[in-house]
Amino acid sequence: MMTRICDLRLDKNPLELSEVSKPTPAERELLLKVHTCGVCHTELDEIEGRTPPARLPIILGHQVVGIVEGTGPRVKKFRPGDRIGVAWIYSACGECRFCRSGQENLCPDFRATGRDADGGYAEFMTVEEDFAYPVPKALSDAEAAPLLCAGAIGYRSLKLTGLQDGQRLGLTGFGASGHLVLHLVKHRFPRSKTYVFARAEKEREFARELGAVWAGDTEETPPEKMDAIIDTTPAWKPVVEALRNLAAGGRLVINAIRKEDADKDYLQRLDYPQHLWMEKEIKSVANVTRADVSEFLELAAAIPIRPEIDVYSLEEANKALLEIKDRGIRGAKVLRVAS
Ligand SMILES: [Zn+2]
Ligand SMILES: [Zn+2]
Repeated sequence: MMTRICDLRLDKNPLELSEVSKPTPAERELLLKVHTCGVCHTELDEIEGRTPPARLPIILGHQVVGIVEGTGPRVKKFRPGDRIGVAWIYSACGECRFCRSGQENLCPDFRATGRDADGGYAEFMTVEEDFAYPVPKALSDAEAAPLLCAGAIGYRSLKLTGLQDGQRLGLTGFGASGHLVLHLVKHRFPRSKTYVFARAEKEREFARELGAVWAGDTEETPPEKMDAIIDTTPAWKPVVEALRNLAAGGRLVINAIRKEDADKDYLQRLDYPQHLWMEKEIKSVANVTRADVSEFLELAAAIPIRPEIDVYSLEEANKALLEIKDRGIRGAKVLRVAS
């Protein structure tokens, strides 16, 4: 449970283990017995106050897989015993112009799991049935968890690049989301080559193993320019360097809920002719829609995409978060709460 906003470097145990009573599902809600919950970089943004929770204390976690244990009286789609997933989108209003046009991720009343409502770093949670997804049988509890955010938002990011088969894709940052995008690209765009920019050699090595044709440090220059680049880093240097490596007409998609300020002065290096001219574009990714999540779950089961995972116990949540902060990770981190 998160009780305070703090600097993770100074306070290495921001989450506290506590006894909480089992929540009661409302009319259209499911009571979920949590099996696994993915650990996401966004949790660092919550703990460090860049996207603070709506209230404190709060239970973090938005890549949740578990079994329906109970249902509210008006639940129609699921029954006790069903295996479901919960993603970052906890609810949206359903009525605004965004919700009505397939862009519920942009809803002004968007509520996020584990930020605006209690999430999955717990034994139990509740969620409205309309915001829960059946988990395909092909995926284990631990494999499915990172697909719910890292995978689904990676899928959305890839859609937003507008990449065509044969075009060159760059990935700057190579964590949980990047490695799933690389798997996805290999299947959807078999003629496309993927280039990876990452600070840590461990991440570059992992990228080459998974089929990246080139992997270098953030400021290295690849042999060719990219048609699209997806940035999953919390920093600014990769943004500037990515713009430099884009081909004419190329698009940079920034998949980050917040950027940190530590290297913001790197933006001073932005040089219009080198980084922006020639119709280069920048687009950010915000949240996910339910369609992104369910489409990606089905794709991942069909391809199949097997994420590389490191499993921790619920009690080790602080350790897993700190490792994400220190980067140099390989794949995705998942908490196993029960099985
Ligand atoms: Zn996430
Ligand atoms: Zn709305």
